[in-house]
Amino acid sequence: GRLPADRAVRAALARVHRRFQADRGGRVADYIPVLAEADPELFGIALAHVGGSVHAVGDADHLFSIQSVSKAFVFALVDQELGHHAVRRRVGVNSTGLPFNSVLAVELNHGSPMNPMVNAGALATTALAPGGSAEERWEFVRRGLSRFAGRELALDERVYASETATNQRNESIARLLDSYGALARDPVATTDLYTRQCSLAVCVRDLAVMGATLANGGVNPLTGERVVDAEVCRDTLAALATAGLYERSGDWLYEVGMPGKSGVSGGIVTVAPGKGSIAVFSPRLDGAGNSVRGQRVTHYLSGALGLNLFAST
Ligand code: GLN
Repeated sequence: GRLPADRAVRAALARVHRRFQADRGGRVADYIPVLAEADPELFGIALAHVGGSVHAVGDADHLFSIQSVSKAFVFALVDQELGHHAVRRRVGVNSTGLPFNSVLAVELNHGSPMNPMVNAGALATTALAPGGSAEERWEFVRRGLSRFAGRELALDERVYASETATNQRNESIARLLDSYGALARDPVATTDLYTRQCSLAVCVRDLAVMGATLANGGVNPLTGERVVDAEVCRDTLAALATAGLYERSGDWLYEVGMPGKSGVSGGIVTVAPGKGSIAVFSPRLDGAGNSVRGQRVTHYLSGALGLNLFAST
């Protein structure tokens, strides 16, 4: 199957934006001080087709920090370097059923990071980024995510500073993993690189293109550049399906039927393999840290555009 024609997609986006415009469910994240300043009314939706067209509605050019949506793409880059078996062995692909920043999940699983889409697994993944210096490893991540987006991404310095100043929990998770020998590099440097990756500034359009690159077997549909191999996309989408929305990943799969990845700044990217990607930005979150309106919009579009992977008709 394919996505419906461009005109039908544009009409569906306009409809869903109108329908959820007044939705005020959820609360803006405040555990990272600068995120609490986000305008809760911001609302943008973008859909990128594997054929290269991008449709957007609302605040589609507003920049926000990518946060945990970065986990999907850093995992893909590291999988590309290390391969299917090595990343599974060193990070894992099972769900934790626990919050994204759980320390307990590491302890309960005897030091296994469990899944690249929760913080422990993302830290373990980021620790595997290649490069001879911290600067080279940062460029590996920044350039790699930029290739997924099809444009040069830059750090949001205010978010990076704010998060660095309040990062005790991620530092603790990194140290705990290190105590189990589960972190390939120094915990302090790894936490810093992870915090940088989370602080990259993107718009919802960027997220849709990044997702469409995963939907398109690793070739960016805008630039035509091969970013990762098709096998890497398959691995990444499997990891998203298990934990992309943390402890709500089962509810998400049941309602939406596609792999997705959320972040606490309010972004959610969802991938329809072989078809394209939907990205939503709306800062109010549920208790697990997933955009409330983002989930509702994606659910609606999954139905309206016939994207549920488990539907046989
Ligand atoms: N940088 C954030 C953190 O580690 C990302 C969390 C998220 O988006 N869920 O706490």
